[in-house]
Amino acid sequence: MKKLYLMTPGPTTVPPDVLLDMAHPIFHHRTPRFKKLFGEVNELLKQVLRTQNPVVTFASSGTGAMEAAMVNTLSPGDKVLAINGGKFGERYLDISKAYGYNVIDLQVTWGEAVDAAKVEQILKENPDIKAVCSTLCETSTGVVNDIKALGAVVEKTDAILITDAISGLAADDLRTDEWGVDMVIGGSQKGLMLPPGLAFLSVSKKAEKMIESAKTPKFYFNLKKALKTLTESDTPWTPAVSLIVGLKSSLSMIVEEGMDNVIARHARLANATRLGLKALGLKLYAPTCSANTLTAVKVPEGIDGSLFVKKVRDDKGVTIAGGQGDAKGKIFRVSHLGYTDHFDVLIAISATEMVLNELGYKFELGAGVKAVQQAIV
Ligand SMILES: *Cc1c(COP(=O)(O)O)cnc(C)c1O
Repeated sequence: MKKLYLMTPGPTTVPPDVLLDMAHPIFHHRTPRFKKLFGEVNELLKQVLRTQNPVVTFASSGTGAMEAAMVNTLSPGDKVLAINGGKFGERYLDISKAYGYNVIDLQVTWGEAVDAAKVEQILKENPDIKAVCSTLCETSTGVVNDIKALGAVVEKTDAILITDAISGLAADDLRTDEWGVDMVIGGSQKGLMLPPGLAFLSVSKKAEKMIESAKTPKFYFNLKKALKTLTESDTPWTPAVSLIVGLKSSLSMIVEEGMDNVIARHARLANATRLGLKALGLKLYAPTCSANTLTAVKVPEGIDGSLFVKKVRDDKGVTIAGGQGDAKGKIFRVSHLGYTDHFDVLIAISATEMVLNELGYKFELGAGVKAVQQAIV
């Protein structure tokens, strides 16, 4: 027997109560029972996204909602600004290329957050920009971006602010309405503690206006249809019923704990993780703007990063994430996202120590675990 621990920034561990709720027999979706459930879920989603705007749920992975945000508000040839500080910021460029948007690629050094002043300057020079595409937590680098500052800049223009909060939602602070975010994108398999398969998208009045004139072809991801049926707690197509049953369960857990408490817990766990890693002499990849969602760390000199991640997973049963793209083999990423508490941090740091030790890295065994224990009293 080997007990497995899932400590990646998606998918994340699903709480046992949520799994049990999803194991109930399937029921039909065109029924009062489903409408009641979906109505409740939609109110809970607004609380978690901190918005009064409608939140649409799609049966897709998170990327579906990224695509939906763009194809429903833009027309081919439209100018968009994509903030590209990692693999997920880059995805906006790929979607733009697929649909023929005129995309400005604002490259941000990996491991750094975007400077809102730079976005403001680009918006001044390009008043025809229709959408600014941003990422709350750039999962590939562990950076949290200042969405509040971006909101203040974009709000003054005709552009909408789209924020990919797929990993950051319910871990890093995000105040959709207060900060002026027009479209927030979420996914089920991260901070919402569910299996993969659901995507979420909030739609402001400013974004809804753009839907009227957007000419990009679309069919499944039709927001106009989805928003219309949403007013009747319904969906245009067959919803992922069992996942929505689980969603009610996981969102209720989050709302019961309280959004401020959930964010504070993630901040505490992130802090403990960082103290543990620093006690091993390791260096953070994003020292000045590390997210609550996950911590990205540089692989020490002389250690094979890919082998390290593989050994932590295969020998110790702890799945952490390696680096992506340019950071492949150079960093590893430990998540403290979703259904996690301080003992999960101890597991991650302990497994890290054991494998680093086996690979010949010199440090005092137990130093990281001790630092975590001291941080979580
Ligand atoms: C996981 C993730 C995605 C991708 O979502 P899929 O569910 O794989 O489509 C997009 N953006 C960020 C920031 C993510 O962390």
